[in-house]
Amino acid sequence: MEWETVIGLEIHTQLATRSKIFSGAATAYGAEPNTQACAVDLGLPGVLPVLNGEVVRMAIKFGLAIDAEITPLSVFARKNYFYPDLPKGYQISQFELPIVGKGQVTIELADGSSKVVGVTRAHLEEDAGKSLHEDFHGMTGIDLNRAGTPLLEIVSEPDMRSAQEAVAYMRKIHSIVRYIEISDGNMQEGSFRCDANVSVRPKGQKEFGTRAELKNINSFRFVEKAIELEVERQIDILESGGTVVQETRLYDANRNETRSMRSKEEAMDYRYFPDPDLLPVQVTDEDIEKVRQTLPELPDAKKARFVEDYSLSSEDAGILTASRELSIYFETVVEGCGEAKLAANWVMGELGGYLNRENLDIGNSPVSAEMLAGMLKRISDNTIYGKIAKEVFEAMWKGEGDADAIIDSKGLKQITDSGAIESLIDEVLANNPKQVEEYRGGKEKMLGFFVGQIMKATGGKANPGQVNQILKEKLKGG
Ligand code: ADP
Ligand code: MG
Repeated sequence: MEWETVIGLEIHTQLATRSKIFSGAATAYGAEPNTQACAVDLGLPGVLPVLNGEVVRMAIKFGLAIDAEITPLSVFARKNYFYPDLPKGYQISQFELPIVGKGQVTIELADGSSKVVGVTRAHLEEDAGKSLHEDFHGMTGIDLNRAGTPLLEIVSEPDMRSAQEAVAYMRKIHSIVRYIEISDGNMQEGSFRCDANVSVRPKGQKEFGTRAELKNINSFRFVEKAIELEVERQIDILESGGTVVQETRLYDANRNETRSMRSKEEAMDYRYFPDPDLLPVQVTDEDIEKVRQTLPELPDAKKARFVEDYSLSSEDAGILTASRELSIYFETVVEGCGEAKLAANWVMGELGGYLNRENLDIGNSPVSAEMLAGMLKRISDNTIYGKIAKEVFEAMWKGEGDADAIIDSKGLKQITDSGAIESLIDEVLANNPKQVEEYRGGKEKMLGFFVGQIMKATGGKANPGQVNQILKEKLKGG
C-alpha cells in the first residue's frame, strides 16, 4: 500500500518588542530569573493588562506579508489551565476571532517547482514562564521572565505532504518574520518554534487520517527528523493492523524518537471565554494602510528581481534572498564590483563555505561586503585570478587587511607582462624537449604539463589565458 503524509504546522514566533504584551516589563533574553516580571506578569490580584500597541502593528504587518485578511475586531480570550509557570491560571490568547485570518505563502520544492501553502490564521498570545529543573534537587524553580512575552501563533492548513515541504514552509515563515523585522527568529533562544501535526492516509483516500501533534520543535533539522520518524511509526502501526490514536507527542533529539505525552482523552478543556479585562482590538483601514507603508520588499519579490536584474538562476536567487541580511550583503557586493555573477559565485561559494565551517551568520562575517567587492574588482581587472584570489580571501578572512593591501604586501599581483611570460615559456620549452616532441607528435594533453610548469615557476601568478595562448603559438611555431 502507498501512503500519503499530511502535515499542518503551528508556529510560535516571539515578537521583537522591548516590553511585554500586557505589561511594561522588559523582554530581553537571558536576564537573571524573575528580574523581568512585574505584578501583571506574576498575576497578582487587582492588576489589569494593557495591550502593547506595537504587537498589533506587528501582527498586521505579518498578515499583509502573507496576503491575509486582517480582522477588524479581534478578541482576546482566556485559555484556562493550571501549571506552576502560569500564575494567573490562564493564558491570554485569541480563539474565535484571531487578528489575522486566511492567508498564504509560496514554498519552493527540491525539484524546482513551487507550491502554495494556506495559512489558516495567526493570533496574538502571551508566553508562559519557565520551569527550571536542572539547578534544583527535589524541587523545581520557576522563572517568570518569559511570562507575558508576546507571541504570534501562525497556524497552517494541513497542506504539506512531506517532511521536506514542512521544513520549506517553516523556513519561508522564518524568512518572512525576519524580513519584516517582527521577530529575531532566534531558534536557540526559543523565539521561533513549532508544533507539527502529522497524519498518514492511503494514497488516493480523501479523508485525513488521525493525527499526532509533535510539540515544541526548535530547529529545522529536528522538524524534518521528527516528522519522518512519526510517519514511519504511524505507517508501521497501520500496516500491522492497528489504529493511530490522536495524541500529543514529544520529540527526543537525543534518542531520536517521539513518545507520547498525553492522549486526546487526557486533553484539557481550556474553557475559553473572552477576557473581560481587555477590550476587543479594533483595526481600521487607515491603521492597515499605515502598516502597509512600512513593509519592505519581501523575499519572493526580491527573488524575482534578482533573477530579472542580475540574470541569476531561480535557485541562486532563492539562496541569496533566503535571509534579508544575505540579500543586502549580496547587493552591496554587486554595487561595489559591478559584476553580479561573480559576486553570486563568491558569496555562495567561498564566503558561504567559510561561514558554514565556522558556523557564523552573514552578519558576523569578518569579510565585509565592501571588502569582498574590493577583491572582486581585482579579479575583473585581471590583477589576480582564481587560486590567488582564494589566497587573498583567506587573508582577508584572517583580518590581514583589504584585498589591495594583501595583494601588495604578499606580492600576489598577476604577471600580465607578455614579454616576461614569453621568456619563461621559452625556458620551460627548452628544458623539456622530449615533452615538446610528444606534443608536436599529436599528444595535445601535454599542454597541461607546460601550463603547470609555468604556473609553478610563477607561483601561480601568470595569467592562465595568456599562458595558454602564447604556449600554443610557440609550440606551433617550432
Ligand atoms: P487544535 O485545535 O487541536 O490545535 P486545529 O484544527 O486548530 O487543531 O489544527 C491544528 C493544526 O493541525 C493545523 O495546523 C492543521 O492544519 C493541522 N491538522 C488538522 N488535521 C490534521 C490532520 N489530519 N493531519 C495533519 N495535520 C492536521
Ligand atoms: Mg493547536
